[in-house]
Amino acid sequence: MRSGDGDGGREGGGVDGGHTGFGGGSGLDALDARITGCRACPRLVAWREEVARTKRAAFADQEYWGRPVPGFGPSDAALLIVGLAPAAHGANRTGRMFTGDRSGDVLYAALHEVGLASRGTAVGADDGLELHGVRITSPVHCAPPANKPTPEERDTCRPWLVSELELLRPTLRAVLVLGAFGWQAALPALAAAGWRVPRPRPVFGHGTRVPLDGLDLFGCFHVSQRNTFTGRLTPAMLRDVLRTAAGAAGLRATS
Ligand code: SF4
Repeated sequence: MRSGDGDGGREGGGVDGGHTGFGGGSGLDALDARITGCRACPRLVAWREEVARTKRAAFADQEYWGRPVPGFGPSDAALLIVGLAPAAHGANRTGRMFTGDRSGDVLYAALHEVGLASRGTAVGADDGLELHGVRITSPVHCAPPANKPTPEERDTCRPWLVSELELLRPTLRAVLVLGAFGWQAALPALAAAGWRVPRPRPVFGHGTRVPLDGLDLFGCFHVSQRNTFTGRLTPAMLRDVLRTAAGAAGLRATS
């Protein structure tokens, strides 16, 4: 039994305060269903729905998801990848994490190359893509304007991540966080879910590895276009971190 430091656990890992889920049921599928009904952040609810109405011209003939995007991947994942938030015309359109945008193109290509995904492209929720031992989530489940959630929105969404971590805990052995925002969000969520997170809190960096009790936490630059277009994060760097994290999780990555 792990002991948390209490930080961030305002609802004891529950997800009801301030959230309007569907209620009922247990397990990850039930949690995912409840997340998709959440309307706790007025600014993000308005934005995700406005984007879904107005659309980007290239997707004008598509029906946007326009709701919170739940985690994607098996309920017994050993490795959890934590991003930032859905992209307005990516996951907010397709309804699946990192699906339908350039960031996802980079991430799924790398996951496929190291053997953790069944294919290297992610274009829609029905494209047949499967993850092997890996789940992908984000600390904010609704698309924010300019890809920038506020600290208040991050904190409001935290109980969902805490619950997801608690449900994954029996199998979870490694967490790979993409970017500093996700790092800041993940540390208190891990603590609230029962892992002992050191103080002072470890600082985010690409390649940072922090052993928690029974779990290894990794930092990686986010797969944003700003990072990948400039070469700050190359496909080789991403594959390296994924392989290391997969190894820590007991997954077999290919070289
Ligand atoms: S960001 Fe999270 S807490 Fe806020 S409305 Fe979306 S799902 Fe709910």
